[in-house]
This record gives sequence, C-alpha cells and structure tokens, in this order.
Amino acid sequence: MTLAHTLGYPRIGADRELKKATEAYWKGEIDRNALESAGKELRARHWQAQREAGLDLVTVGDFAFYDQILNVSVLLGAVPERFGAVEGEVDLDTSFRMARGRAPGGTPAAACEMTKYFDTNYHYLVPELHAGQTFRLASQRLFDEVEEAKAAGHAVKVTLTGPLTWLWLGKEKGQDFDRLTLLDTVLPVYGEILSRLAEQGVEWVQLDEPALVQDLPHAWQQAYEAAYHKLQSAPVKLLLATYFGALGDNLQLATSLPVDGLHIDAVRAPHQLETVLDRLPAYKVLSVGIIDGRNIWRADLARLRESLTSAHARLGERLWLAPSCSLLHVPVDLDRETELDAELKSWLAFARQKLDEVVTLARLLDGRATPDDQARLEVATQALAARRRSTRIHKSAVSERLAALAATDAERDSPYAKREAAQRRKLDLPLFPTTTIGSFPQTTEIRAARRAFKVGELSREDYEARMREEIAYAVQRQEGLGLDMLVHGEPERNDMVEYFGELLDGFAFTRFGWVQSYGSRCVKPPVIFGDVSRPAAMTVHWSEYAQSLTERPMKGMLTGPVTILQWSFVRDDQQRETTCRQIALALRDEVADLEAAGIQAIQIDEPALREGLPLRQAEWQAYLDWAVECFKLSAAVVRDETQIHTHMCYSEFNDIIASIAALDADVITIETSRSDMELLDAFQDFAYPNEIGPGVYDIHSPNIPDVEWMVQLLEKAAERIPAERLWVNPDCGLKTRGWAEVEPALANMVEAARELRQRH
Ligand code: GLN
Ligand code: ZN
Repeated sequence: MTLAHTLGYPRIGADRELKKATEAYWKGEIDRNALESAGKELRARHWQAQREAGLDLVTVGDFAFYDQILNVSVLLGAVPERFGAVEGEVDLDTSFRMARGRAPGGTPAAACEMTKYFDTNYHYLVPELHAGQTFRLASQRLFDEVEEAKAAGHAVKVTLTGPLTWLWLGKEKGQDFDRLTLLDTVLPVYGEILSRLAEQGVEWVQLDEPALVQDLPHAWQQAYEAAYHKLQSAPVKLLLATYFGALGDNLQLATSLPVDGLHIDAVRAPHQLETVLDRLPAYKVLSVGIIDGRNIWRADLARLRESLTSAHARLGERLWLAPSCSLLHVPVDLDRETELDAELKSWLAFARQKLDEVVTLARLLDGRATPDDQARLEVATQALAARRRSTRIHKSAVSERLAALAATDAERDSPYAKREAAQRRKLDLPLFPTTTIGSFPQTTEIRAARRAFKVGELSREDYEARMREEIAYAVQRQEGLGLDMLVHGEPERNDMVEYFGELLDGFAFTRFGWVQSYGSRCVKPPVIFGDVSRPAAMTVHWSEYAQSLTERPMKGMLTGPVTILQWSFVRDDQQRETTCRQIALALRDEVADLEAAGIQAIQIDEPALREGLPLRQAEWQAYLDWAVECFKLSAAVVRDETQIHTHMCYSEFNDIIASIAALDADVITIETSRSDMELLDAFQDFAYPNEIGPGVYDIHSPNIPDVEWMVQLLEKAAERIPAERLWVNPDCGLKTRGWAEVEPALANMVEAARELRQRH
C-alpha cells in the first residue's frame, strides 16, 4: 500500500486565526493560556484535516507561534545570552523576544536577524552561533504536541529541521570560527530528542534537510555522512526530507545516508526520480514529493499516476507520496473562495485540496481507488483540459508580440555617456540631487478611504479626489523641503504588486489566499493565470496630475517585471521567463505612455531581483540573463533624455554586480546607510558606470537622522563613486513612517546635500 503523508501543513489557519491570536497576545488583549489554547485548537484542526483527507500519518512539529527554525533553536537551547535563558524550559515569551525584541514578559533585547528561507517568501529567524557554544534540550513543546496528537488518536510522524540544515541556516557571531565545528555538540541533543520521541511511541521522524539541494562545501557533505551515522543508532526511523530542487551532486550522498527513508522533490526536479530509484538501497522508503507545495495549481492526477507507475512497480510498499515540500507555502483552503469565478477556481488547489490529491493518487496507484477518487480524477482531468483550451489564458496578440521581439528592443538608443549628457541638459539638476524612493506615509485616512471605496461607501470620483489631495499635499511638502526630483507619493497603492496586478489582464485575486511571510505577517500573492497584457494605462493620470502641480521633475513610479513575477503565484504551463517577458511588455507600454505624458524620469523598482536567484549557483547566470533582459525590455522604450531609475532594497551586490550594471538604469537607488557605505565597494571595484543613490538613512528606524551623520556618509560615498554620479535619498520608501518623522528627516537630508555641494 502506498503511504500518503505531508511534510507539513500551514499553521496560520483558514481565517488567519494564528495571526489574530498572537497579535492579541502581544497587545495584552489575551493571556498566555488563551494563546496556547488557540494554538492547540489549530493543531487539532489541522491534524484532523490530514486524517479526514485519508493521510496515513499526521505531521506533528510543523506548528510554531512564530517560526519553525526558531522553534529548533529554542529546542536546542540556542538562545543568545542577551535573552537570559541559561537554564530550565525556554518559555514562549523568550522565543517572542528572540523574534521581535519584546514580548509581554521579559526585558526587551535586540531581536535576532530574519532572512528568507531558501528561495521562498517565508522568513526565518537566523540561529546565532558562537565558538564553544553548548546546547541542551530546552523545550518540552514538541513532546507535548506529540502527546496531544496521540491523545486525539492520530498516527504520528514528527517533523524537525535536521542538524545540518539548522546549522547551515545559522550565522557565526563574535569570534571568527566555523559553525560546522558545532555539529558534534548539537548531535547529542538531537539524539536525546529522538530517544524521547521513541519513548513516546513515535515510529517515524522526518528530518528536514533542504540544504542538500544547495551547493555544499565538501566539509559539509562529509559532515552529513558523519552526522547521520551517529543518528542512525536512534530508536526511531528517520525520513530524510529534501526539497525545493534537485539533489544534484548531493544525490549519491543523500541516497546512501544510513536512514530509513528519503523524500525528494519530484515537482521542481522530476528527472531525479529515475536516478534515485536506481541508487536507493533496497531497505529504504522513498517519499516522492509529487504535488506542488510551492504553487496553487490543481494537479494532473492522470499524468502523475502515469509518471509514477514504474516507481510504484519497483518500490511496492516502500513508495510514499507527499507534496513536494511543506504546504506552509500555499494558502489553506480553496473552498473558502466563494467569490472566485468557478472556472478559475476549478484550476486551483490549496493546502487542504492538495492533501486530497496525494491520497487519491496513492489509491489510484494501488488500484484501490474509491468512487470519490475516481470522480476526483475525472474532475481534475476535465479541469486541466478546460484550462488548456480556455480562451482566457492565451492571447494571440501577446504571443505574437513576444515572438516579434528583436534584441534591439531591450537596448536604449544610445550608450549611457550620451544619455547622461542629454539628461543633464533636460533635467538641469544640481550636484548631489535629492529625491525619495516613491512612497510617502500611508496614513490611516488614506487606508480608510481605500477601504470605503472598496466596499462601495466612497464613489470612484470621491476616492480619486481624495488621492489627488494626498498627492498635492506630498508635492507641496517636497517643494517646501527643497527636494530636486519629486514623487507623487503612491497614496493610491495598497501594495506595490497588487496595485499593478489589479490593472493588468491575466491576474486574479483570492480573498483568503494568505500565506505566512514571517511571524504573524501574511501575504496574499496574486495569481497569474493567463497571458499578461495592459488593457489601459495604469499610473499615467496620477503622475500627470502630480507633474502638473510643480515645475520640478516628477518621477513616474512602477514596479518592475521581476518583482511582480517573484511576488505572485506564477502559472505553471509556461516558463517563468516567458511570463516575465509578458509583464515586461505591459510595463513597457506604461513607460512609453508616461514619457508621452511629459514625465521625464521613470523609476522601475526591482526589490525582488536578488531573491529570484536560483538555489544553485550554476543556474544563476541563466536567471540573471532573462531577469536583466526583462527589466531592459520594460525600460528601453524611452528617448535618451528620459531618465530611467531603479531601486533595490538591499545592498549585497558583490556577486551580481555585473548584472546590476547590465540593467543599464541611468540611476539606481539602494539600501546602504546601515553599512556605512562600505557596500558601495562592489560598485567601485566594478567601476560601475552609471549614477547611484546610496540610501543615507534607514527608513525602518523612527529616529531622525542628523545632518552631520549624513554628510559623513556622503563623503564616504564620494570616496568611492565620483561626486557627479551621486544622488541623495533615503534607503527605501516612506510609506510606513509618519509625516512627523518624514519631514524633519528629509529636511536634514536636503541640508546634508547642500553641505556636500559646498564641499565639492
Ligand atoms: N517605490 C516603492 C516605495 O517607495 C518601493 C518599495 C520597495 O522598494 N519595496 O514604497
Ligand atoms: Zn526599497
């Protein structure tokens, strides 16, 4: 019998109950017990859903009030000293303080760093590791959860991030050392955990080791051997779970480790199934991740059954089926989407539906399909056929335009040197020109107006009039402050991707399609289901209006194609790069229209360009090539004298600087204030040819930066980049700040720029 399971299930709840409960607890509205019971209730519900769907095991250990990697750090007692939890059980408030710096109980301290989990939009808390660190079993939580699940009568499999991936995701702090040296100290605690689980009667423990799909240094590969040889003595069966890509050069290693089972991602890397089947020792279970855990499309059950027949024949009882990775990365339940049109809905599957798909597939393979399974197979096959034929997906105008693209379409008319002269003549800006990144405070009034408009309490006319007032206010403030290049302030945008998605064809929006981003934060990515095109101009009337209020140049403001792609659920029936090119062409038309409307500078934000990098370095260049081409396609339609800006909210450019330069944006604004401008070294070393606006203050902090500080930073920047190519701006958009902070901060920034002009 083929066993059906899942690597994990979303924990936020179909109504984001977890978000609501944790935030209420942080605000002091509910107490610790109420929060604990909310968690317990969600776990119970999610296990029940797995059982009802017919999974053979329910997964325990995927729940977290904040983050599953933080949970492991707490479990191992890896709590930085500043949180003062040296002995005993590490409590919930301590873990909240690690995550957010403060909690209802305990002294505030600097939160741990947070970063993206592999190539997902999920963020985890980075384990802080230091030389000589000791570990201890410091939390009972996991064992309590196992008891809960057992009390409810479930067959339990435990999931826990494996020791090497946990270390891999960590960061060395303090004295220089190699975190891999901590492995020997960590392993005994893992051993203790596994023994405890065995005592509880747990048969299978899934150790998540997605680090195995990345480029691992030789020492780490060897450490896998050593570690799993030690762990094999544990009295439980181990399932080594790998996902998010192909095992590649770690395939031999992964198949040969002394564990009882291996999980592979057969969605991102279907080709590895055959090789793994050939290499897998006869005593091992193979869990095939066959349902996409990273996207929301309904599975083609007929095709998958076909593709699994040989594995089924070869493995027999040793075949397990699961989603490719934890379902943490998809929304909870499609049934909630009562307002989504029926056709589109029939193409989708969220976490709850994906469980059904796994179970049905297992039964189909075994020849024990129920009438419900047969019906599900039929429905899936029909829906997929309908999707392929649907006239809503393919637009011949879009594909024809794509096919007709010439290499020159992605190139500006002249090289930068010539454009620069034309832009100087046209824009007539001072040395060290000042500008901002785009958004001004999204005040409660703005958000209230948008909500009223959405529910029909405010007419479109009135809403637009309100937004124009906001724009006028922002323009007036900027003129008062003496900024050189202005922005309209983006009051009309709820979100930098959703705003464009709503105005483009080929996008759809769910009502409850929330996915955890970090802690209690969830995002609701748009769904790109069809060819993307632009039925009408999207931003032109706002920018035109803003420009009409001032003599100074007004920057048009767009979200770039790579970022729109990266922050959406992308269709799976064509290459990502094709979808990206379609978005690029839609934006290209907007850029052309902005220019025609008299806008002299246009910023195309690409904050997600870097996070799109594949997990394997060997694939970086191919990605960067099409990503850069897409950006250029959207931008290169303008005349020489129209200035193209781009913005990225980070500053690690060392390894991608050539591609950043290849974007050929006239101006790039980046985040640098926190690094003391040292991160400009990459630009200096590369002899980056175009203009740069290194952020001179951190917008994430409510502090008002002083003039002297910014002058100093700019002097440091000028040591690295010729003064004539430097701009002066904050690190990022100001939408999360209030005007009371923004005005004095920008006044000081303008003052700093004036000081620099005197000196240079
Ligand atoms: N133009 C956007 C803003 O200012 C850019 C946001 C971002 O980079 N994430 O809000
Ligand atoms: Zn930014």
